[in-house]
Amino acid sequence: MRLAARIVFRSVVCTLVVIAGVLFFRHVGHFNATTVALSFLLAVLVVSTVWGFWYAAFLALISTLAFNFFFLPPVGTLTISDPQNWVALFAFLLTAVIAGQLSERARREALRANERRTEIERLYSFSQRLLTIESVPELLNQVPRNISDIFGARGAAIHLSGRPDVYRSSAQTSELESQRLQMVATRGGPEIDSAKGLAFAPLRLGVRTIGAFGISGAALSHESMDALSTLIAIAIERTNAIENIGKAEAAREHEKLHSAILDSIAHEFRTPLTAIKASVTSLLAGGLSAGQQNELMTVVDEESDRMNHLVEEATQLARLESNQVELDREPHQIGDAVQKALDATRKAIAGRSVKVTIAPELPPLNFDLELISNVLSQLLENAAKYSPPDSEINISAVRNKAEVVVSVADRGAGIDELERSLIFDKFYRGKDNRFSVQGTGMGLAIAKAIIEAHGGTVTVTSQLGHGSVFSFTLVDRNYSVDQSSSVVTLTS
Ligand code: ADP
Repeated sequence: MRLAARIVFRSVVCTLVVIAGVLFFRHVGHFNATTVALSFLLAVLVVSTVWGFWYAAFLALISTLAFNFFFLPPVGTLTISDPQNWVALFAFLLTAVIAGQLSERARREALRANERRTEIERLYSFSQRLLTIESVPELLNQVPRNISDIFGARGAAIHLSGRPDVYRSSAQTSELESQRLQMVATRGGPEIDSAKGLAFAPLRLGVRTIGAFGISGAALSHESMDALSTLIAIAIERTNAIENIGKAEAAREHEKLHSAILDSIAHEFRTPLTAIKASVTSLLAGGLSAGQQNELMTVVDEESDRMNHLVEEATQLARLESNQVELDREPHQIGDAVQKALDATRKAIAGRSVKVTIAPELPPLNFDLELISNVLSQLLENAAKYSPPDSEINISAVRNKAEVVVSVADRGAGIDELERSLIFDKFYRGKDNRFSVQGTGMGLAIAKAIIEAHGGTVTVTSQLGHGSVFSFTLVDRNYSVDQSSSVVTLTS
């Protein structure tokens, strides 16, 4: 209906142009036939450039008739007396039609060039967006949405061979049926359904087809569909490659970590063994004074204790990891565990200011007093080991909804982000103190296993140069929602 109205309107305008021309040339001044013909020709060229060939042909026809009727003798009839005028009339008609065709062609080419430019701009912006994506699942989620955003499509969908899912720009893209996408991927050829405004194309990498995509409600040229197909396929290949490189990198890091761990264990066992061996060799060689003998015996005694401790820790960890430890859970105040840990680590924290802050209304919690105080001892010993001898250590316990959070904070060097994710792994020891501070790398792993056996979690926050805070949670099973907390400070 709109097309018909447009045809009628433009035809009427063409007719009015001819009528206006005739009125002007007949009544305003005196013009010869050549001037009239050239003016009509100009009108034909303008119409053909603006509206296309068919309107120009229509205008050429009616202006030929009007030219003949009003300007070629005998005027007022459609007959022509002079044969020369026949030639002039046909030359006019032919020139009008040819010129109309030429300018129509130029118009169409300009239009096509414009469309191409827009498509190239869109493809460019699409490729830019693809470059920012680094994982295949994200790419599959983003591609359909980007196609419909950038190309103004009603919907878009993508399917990768070997994967069951179809990724869509929105839920309303059921017209892009999964079976059809799978068929296009299997056949490897494009499919256009102009009646429904659908277009499907395979995703091709050279001769290999890796999937298919479909667009509804946007008429893209063959070239653009091909370019889209290649762009998407390359982006998928690229993100796959990035992911593989990431995995290889992670595997390499894991390998490095493994050997660091082995180094550290070997070092921990070798140090006491070397000392014992050297002492025993000297003792066997004889010729030592009673004092020297005593000194060497003490070394053997201390170093065997250290090895014993190592083996004990390893056994405890193995038992915790295989769930062989039975928790002796009884209601206890968290303050009791703190006190027990302070007693046990008296030697390690000697000479330090240790501040204890426990929220007053904390309820008794169900935990294994021995094991939780071991965890606190471990955290306290670490705080003492990894911070300056005269710096303060803070212990706190507060309620956080249904949990009680217990923290040990020190003013040490802190732990960098990478190490924060590794220190709870068994045998991992910080790279800066692996060989300078004695340890086994098992303390935090044991603490974590104990807390997890109680249903809690252990975390660390740290600021380089300012210190670290190790926290663990214990669940209060009798917690009801309307309970709130306040804190008072006690100093030990
Ligand atoms: P160990 O102390 O025997 O090395 P842990 O499992 O207790 O083993 O700790 C693992 C690593 O975590 C330590 O080697 C150290 O690098 C780091 N770490 C633990 N506690 C602290 C702390 N309070 N401050 C800084 N680093 C710490």
